[in-house]
Amino acid sequence: MNRLTSSNKTIVATKMAAFALLASMLLLGIFAIFPAIPASAAAAGPGTYKVTTSAGLNVRSGPGTGYGRVGGINYGATFEVTQTSGAWGYVPAKNGWASLDYAQLVQAAPTSMTSSNLPNGYYVISSKFDFCKVIDIYCAYGENGTCAIIYDWNGTDNQIFYFERLSDGTYRIQAKHSGRYLEVRNSSHSNGAEVAQWDWHDSYACKRWYVIDCGDGCYKLINKESGKALDLNGGNTSNGTRIQQYQENGTNAQRFRLTNVSAAFSNPPASNDSTSSWQYPLKGAYCSWRGYSNSTWSWGEDRYGNSSSSSRNFHLGLDLNGSSSTVYAALEGTVAAYSTSNSGANGRYVILKHSVGGQTVYSFYAHLSSVKVSSVGQSVNKNTEIGVVGGSGNGSNSNYGEHLHFAIVDTLWKSGGYYGYATKFSGNAKCYEGVTYYNPKYVIDNNRLP
Ligand SMILES: [Zn+2]
Repeated sequence: MNRLTSSNKTIVATKMAAFALLASMLLLGIFAIFPAIPASAAAAGPGTYKVTTSAGLNVRSGPGTGYGRVGGINYGATFEVTQTSGAWGYVPAKNGWASLDYAQLVQAAPTSMTSSNLPNGYYVISSKFDFCKVIDIYCAYGENGTCAIIYDWNGTDNQIFYFERLSDGTYRIQAKHSGRYLEVRNSSHSNGAEVAQWDWHDSYACKRWYVIDCGDGCYKLINKESGKALDLNGGNTSNGTRIQQYQENGTNAQRFRLTNVSAAFSNPPASNDSTSSWQYPLKGAYCSWRGYSNSTWSWGEDRYGNSSSSSRNFHLGLDLNGSSSTVYAALEGTVAAYSTSNSGANGRYVILKHSVGGQTVYSFYAHLSSVKVSSVGQSVNKNTEIGVVGGSGNGSNSNYGEHLHFAIVDTLWKSGGYYGYATKFSGNAKCYEGVTYYNPKYVIDNNRLP
């Protein structure tokens, strides 16, 4: 049955059992009015429900009281139901079934939803609050998992999306710069779940969106998996505000103008279904570090500006923002070297060895607050925590501030550390003092060396 303190609905019909139940509730200190036993009608169908009984709701291994209890949902909590059997609903978050007699339907899943007739093509997705603010893939990063944000329209490819109608009446929405598709992360049904780009997979409904004309020149985009709307977090149009999903609420935070810009482009984008190998060593999407003199310091940039070409100011890596963030291996490999002592410009660091298309390369992580590898030759994969950002060498707070210096090189330098900057150069590779440095963004986005 549904309530945590009772075991079987039929028992309630007998006086003795009712007395025992009442006694047990009193023993537990629960002073609840007995709910009227509702008619056991078929449930309203898949959707979001809210627990209405003060004792909470049992979750069972099957759709009936004869199945064992596998969990519970508290009073007032909302939960998603993806299928029903009689008055019972399947709750994927708990991998079990709950009686919907003691829950209220908050929002039905969009089972009968159909998209408006939007032609396939390239679109700019503008906020109804301000049409100059558009959906943008963070920093134009190409990798899976990079989040979508709101940003000033600037005409770059990470602000242009190809909408393609699918046979189920949904659309897939592909970022032009990366070939990857807007999805709700981890197939989440939660309010506030991130919207990011990822490879296409047919079987994932979290990558499919209903595109619905609101009749005011704008559209709402409803995720097929969750039934929730694409939403601007807090209705905030400041640059960098995350795009998320949220229960439909009719506000302008969920309304977007779709401007067809297909005339400017001749072909649909190539699908990018490659299994990306390299990853950024910090989870999620991170822009280059901006803590020093308000300047960015990405690959090849001059930190100081106006320097001569002979000045040694041009960056040989990426500085990634992340105080106390866990650092992961950017690719599977082995530990080539590391230092747990905070000395020199590099401070504590880790160097990993990788093989890419038969060529050996090394990835370098500097300015760590702690090192989590323990031996040279140790195997690592992309889930291996190799250290923590912050606070050593040039990455100390008393120096340039906490950040991760990340570089990819072809040579294990004899002294262990590496230069972080060189004389002026252009392109995605630079040979300096006998070591070739590769632009990490190029390697990650293209999964090969330049
Ligand atoms: Zn650096």
